[in-house]
Amino acid sequence: MGQDIGRVGIERVEGWGMSVGSTTRIVRPRDLDQLRGALQEARRAGVSLAPRGTGCSYGDASTTRDGWALDMTRMNRLLDFDASTGDAELEGGASIRQLWRKALPLGYWPKVVSGTMFPTIGGAAAMNIHGKNNFKVGTFGDNLLEIDLLLGNGDLVTCSREQNAELFHGAIGGFGMLGIITRAKTRTTKVYSGDVRVRGISCHDLGEMMDAMQELVGEADYLVGWIDTFGSGSAGGRGLIHDARYLLDGEDSDSDKTLSLEHQDLPDAVMGVPKAEIWRVLRMFNHDPGMRLVNAIKQVSGRMEAMSGWHRQSHAGFNFLLDYVPDWKYAYARRAGDGLLQYQAFLPADTALDGFLALLAEGQSSGHTPYLGVLKRHRPDPFLMTHALDGWSMAMDLKVTAKNRAHLLETCARFSKICLAAGGRFYFAKDQVISPDVARASFGSERIAAFHELKAHADPDGLFSTDLWRRVFEEDPARTSHGPWPR
Ligand SMILES: Cc1cc2nc3c(=O)[nH]c(=O)nc-3n(C[C@H](O)[C@H](O)[C@H](O)COP(=O)(O)OP(=O)(O)OC[C@H]3O[C@@H](n4cnc5c(N)ncnc54)[C@H](O)[C@@H]3O)c2cc1C
Repeated sequence: MGQDIGRVGIERVEGWGMSVGSTTRIVRPRDLDQLRGALQEARRAGVSLAPRGTGCSYGDASTTRDGWALDMTRMNRLLDFDASTGDAELEGGASIRQLWRKALPLGYWPKVVSGTMFPTIGGAAAMNIHGKNNFKVGTFGDNLLEIDLLLGNGDLVTCSREQNAELFHGAIGGFGMLGIITRAKTRTTKVYSGDVRVRGISCHDLGEMMDAMQELVGEADYLVGWIDTFGSGSAGGRGLIHDARYLLDGEDSDSDKTLSLEHQDLPDAVMGVPKAEIWRVLRMFNHDPGMRLVNAIKQVSGRMEAMSGWHRQSHAGFNFLLDYVPDWKYAYARRAGDGLLQYQAFLPADTALDGFLALLAEGQSSGHTPYLGVLKRHRPDPFLMTHALDGWSMAMDLKVTAKNRAHLLETCARFSKICLAAGGRFYFAKDQVISPDVARASFGSERIAAFHELKAHADPDGLFSTDLWRRVFEEDPARTSHGPWPR
């Protein structure tokens, strides 16, 4: 290759859930020149580029069977942090982890974080991620001030609500298909402590959980519900809510200590087991009877937690609970191709309860009971391909094996019918199953046509493409004939 395009390798590039992926050429530019070089080189070679951050999307959003993967994680500088406003400016490959570690000692916390701290800023913007506070502060995109977008022709354009607003609203949540986010400016929240106040609220069923969360929407800073996915009948959707609040100015007498990074760092061992080994323990329970037991134990311990009232937890401990157990996903992987998929259904407020109960019942009756269920409250936002709505989401983690793959796919198709009947939306950071028809029925043909039009303008030669894009939006006949779910 004549052009300087950064590091290049041939690697297995897969979705975070490990059940989709392929061996792919991967390019890792370090700066804008190398990134532009990579675009030129791909154009010369006649291949597409799949933008990729840390690969934390569960499915095929940043994998590619047909082109090169463009890994942005070396363009990872934190460019500026204004301690008087809390505004931060970062390169697209910098991580949420870098952001909070800079912000917190200065008394700020990112407005929106995911359940893991490892996504990049570019990946978070391209998927328009949400946190457990979506009902309160909106999505990641709602809190972005501007982005720089590198278009397919090599032009770098700054986009905001005032400048190139159409591109701004399309590229946020546009799953990397309109260009590469090389820089982003985002707001953070002023905090007066490194801790949040947290309490658990135990619920007998899903209706009770949703009512209780709805009542707290005006008061809580964060709300999340854990669902015992094995509960059925009158216990269908029972579980535990976590309600978390920021501490007020002066409430934390030791804020210097709690705002320190040491206070945030997660412990190296849980109940005496080194963190790095816990997934091996979890693997022993990674089957239906084991997970039924784990869910039942959590339900009982949740009741005890609810009785103990308010307690304090660090921001990192509360927000990044899933990072407590490194590599926990390996509990799902015994053989190559095993893994998990997450199905996250977004339903409007008036249909959500019945829809979620129907999804849980469908999973149980078809032999694919989810091993984890999580409920969140959402609010709408102005982005073109957004998943956000005035309603709720329920995320379900489902085990994938070589043996259950085809049957699970059929079950997911039935999930999608339930969601569509309830007027639901899908979230591409978690998806690996929906078809073009389902996307059209959910997002609407007009919205999808508007996105295609924007792409024709921003990336006329179709330089940016991923497995997700070809599966859902290009109606690639080759993909259809292989099934939407290649390994
Ligand atoms: C354990 C876990 C918990 C999670 N919790 C949540 C949660 O609470 N809320 C939530 O919303 N999501 C959650 N997610 C999903 C995750 O936040 C998103 O998938 C996020 O987009 C991942 O970012 P990434 O950097 O890994 O990007 P990738 O997954 O690599 O890519 C995501 C998308 O962005 C595109 N892209 C990546 N970088 C760029 C760039 N610089 N410019 C343009 N496009 C780009 C890719 O093409 C792809 O379409 C979770 C994921 C995991 C693994």
